[in-house]
Amino acid sequence: MQPDPLSRDAVQEVLARLVRIPSVNPALAPGEGTGEEAVARFAVDWLAARGVRAWLEEAAPGRPNAVAEVGSGDGPTLVLCAHLDTVGTAGMEIPPFEPRVEGGRLYGRGSYDMKGGAAAIMAALAALAREGLTGRVLGALVCDEEYASIGASDFVRRHRADACIVTEPSEGRLILAHKGFVWLELVTRGVAAHGSRWDLGVSAIGRMGRIIAALEELDRTELRRRVHPLVGPASLHCALIEGGTGLSTYAAECRLSVERRTLPGETTAQVVAEVEAAVRRAGEEAEVRVLLDRPPLECDRDADIARCVRSAAAAVTGAEPEEAGVAYWMDAAIFAGAGVPTVNYGPAGAGAHAAVEWVDVNSVVTCARVLVDAARAFCGGGAPGAPQAPRSPEPKARSPAAAPPRRCPAIAEENHG
Ligand SMILES: [Zn+2]
Repeated sequence: MQPDPLSRDAVQEVLARLVRIPSVNPALAPGEGTGEEAVARFAVDWLAARGVRAWLEEAAPGRPNAVAEVGSGDGPTLVLCAHLDTVGTAGMEIPPFEPRVEGGRLYGRGSYDMKGGAAAIMAALAALAREGLTGRVLGALVCDEEYASIGASDFVRRHRADACIVTEPSEGRLILAHKGFVWLELVTRGVAAHGSRWDLGVSAIGRMGRIIAALEELDRTELRRRVHPLVGPASLHCALIEGGTGLSTYAAECRLSVERRTLPGETTAQVVAEVEAAVRRAGEEAEVRVLLDRPPLECDRDADIARCVRSAAAAVTGAEPEEAGVAYWMDAAIFAGAGVPTVNYGPAGAGAHAAVEWVDVNSVVTCARVLVDAARAFCGGGAPGAPQAPRSPEPKARSPAAAPPRRCPAIAEENHG
């Protein structure tokens, strides 16, 4: 019999093996980004060797997700999602791909963001594969979260689910909301003329300057006062600007890139309308174009998945988790955008995208155990001998919107040995 996949040694071993395989996102560091496929293949082989059905799904050529499945599929489907890609290693002060354990911390690129969360999912799937789950748990170990999220986007196109837990590091908190963002480009037009011809020339840069002042005013007086209880205020900043062709020429064109961080409930259309209104208040005209938008996340704290994770964390750690929101964006919103109620619960550590990155190994073990308990509660069935939650049969695949309301069974009644 194989050792307990939820033991500290087993969890630390799979985490170290993940960190040892470089998987830098190729869009972020082209010279380094060659390992997304290798790490996904490792995950599939590791899971298959432990009785988990696992396979690769290409989100783009050479850029696969590792997808896994346990359970019978006769009940609700829960997705456990982590990204396997990392940011680059420039400026790191530790060996990025030679994991070192010291003082309960495992050091290396991606240990915290987020191979710790990926290891927790893999250990949980290996444990759940030994049980008789009524429903189904899908593992989504995706590529490209650090750039354009093609992995999570591809996964939600192929698979339906009733809930999702993203295991980005959360220091053991239950994250119910995060901000979204909208990238905008504004273009002003002037009239090109020789620098001496004040009577003919109109500077597009001067026009943009008045718009910038109006945008800063919008940020200061309106957006920062719009505060969400979990994620804080909305905000906007002017990020990039270019215009003009030479000192002795009135600039014919000016381009400004703006990032707007959005709150749950705010839409891209609303963001565009507010920016256009600021342009009008400045007495100017500009083209306003959306370059990229990502939705915010919000999950009702009484949603089944929030209740199941809260109860599981309380059972495993002895205390209910703190509930919070975060300002940064996650793949969680891609699942929520597909109609799948989604929360974030993950390990503790520090150094995401930084010179020294580490994850607390015990927090990864705790996360894995919480995932197992939450999956049993959400999907039904579970550990042999554990009381089965009474539930009515449900179709195998269905639209999330059609999912009937269910209650999280009292998982404190289960056996947490
Ligand atoms: Zn991450």
